[in-house]
Amino acid sequence: MKTREVKAGNLIIGGGRHIVVQTMCNTHTSDIGASVAQCRELYRAGAEMIRLTVPTMEDVKALAEIKARLRSEGIEVPLVADVHFSSGIAIAAAEVAEKVRINPGNFHKDHQEACRQFARLVQVCKEHGTAMRIGLNHGSLGSRITTLYGNTPLAMKEAAMEWIGLCLENDFHDVVVSLKASNTIVMVQAYRLLAQAMEGKGIAFPLHLGVTEAGNGDSGRIKSAVGISALLSEGIGDTVRVSLTEPPVNEIPVARYLSDRYGQKTASSLAALDITDRKAVAVYKAPSRERLMLDMSCDFGKMLLDREIDDVELRGSYISDDGREIRLDGSADAAYFADELLQAARRRFYKPEYVACPGCGRTMYNLEETFNEVKRRTSHLKGVVIAVMGCIVNGPGEMADADWGYVGEGNRKVTIYRRNTPILKHVPEDEAIDRLLELISSSR
Ligand code: SF4
Repeated sequence: MKTREVKAGNLIIGGGRHIVVQTMCNTHTSDIGASVAQCRELYRAGAEMIRLTVPTMEDVKALAEIKARLRSEGIEVPLVADVHFSSGIAIAAAEVAEKVRINPGNFHKDHQEACRQFARLVQVCKEHGTAMRIGLNHGSLGSRITTLYGNTPLAMKEAAMEWIGLCLENDFHDVVVSLKASNTIVMVQAYRLLAQAMEGKGIAFPLHLGVTEAGNGDSGRIKSAVGISALLSEGIGDTVRVSLTEPPVNEIPVARYLSDRYGQKTASSLAALDITDRKAVAVYKAPSRERLMLDMSCDFGKMLLDREIDDVELRGSYISDDGREIRLDGSADAAYFADELLQAARRRFYKPEYVACPGCGRTMYNLEETFNEVKRRTSHLKGVVIAVMGCIVNGPGEMADADWGYVGEGNRKVTIYRRNTPILKHVPEDEAIDRLLELISSSR
């Protein structure tokens, strides 16, 4: 789908150009030194656009200073202000950042008032040449839409089309849209529906792709690559963010691989393929372990999501980090990669399903360490969906269909959720994983 060009600072998104690689800082934006250092690191690693959270007016000022310092170093990377709930902060941030990311439905409970506030933001964006991302995640749609359409891909598409309509009414076209979900099936369906709906109305806003709360490690990479590649392979998507619960610099090589592969700059290491009885037998010659994971996710993710095949068997080899050739044929490694791939495409669950946000300036605890500890202690709970979220402001909404949620409150306290309901509040951090495990085992 050829989209229109949207300008964010010196960068063009869409218009059939290359797929833009972006990421987000996990520093506190008010910590200007740390944020500048992280932006510098991300820029040098290849980030073409960097988002920072802007929860307060003070953070708007910090963002202006971060931008000034980066520009004084000759780093022109466009900055995106991530703003939730407050149109006032979004308006102030739109005078500073090259792009603002908002979910306008969260501006106000009353839809008409949210629309009025959104229209004011649009005017400020127009005046300052600021681009906008309308980011509507699964789980944060608001009751007005979910009452009509359920918490579904259709609801995500409908909500997006409403806000797109308002942009058009206001003659505002510097718009990028995202419909992320941690569930790859929901995410792919939502973007497909939106791409069709826009095409049907002759609208061509660029799309920002991402599997949100994908977690970390192998699963986070495979889940991200499965969802994003399914869409990029259909010509849907203009910019990507791979969300990992890891230092954000680790996101860049994965996003770069996806950008290059679907910009036809890199090919799969798949050497031979046979599909018999809906099972793919794939023979790889991969130059690294990570490359094998990304290649197989892109080669078979879409086929698994669309139920064209039911299983994958990996053969061939990859080169390990210490330079050895590791054979796959019949190995535990091959079975593990296939299990991860099938779970990422939600075709077979061999372990718990984890939902974890990447963390940002709103995170007030050691998210990475906690998430790894939760994973270590719950690895036996096959099929259970467990979320670990960085903040109480957005975490509960964004963890969508998790069975259990561990949500940081700040002040070294945690709230534990059973589906959408908080069932234990203000639990001290050092007891929270024990409490979570007790609750899960008493419910089984
Ligand atoms: S849920 Fe995570 S990534 Fe989202 S705003 Fe909260 S801490 Fe940041």
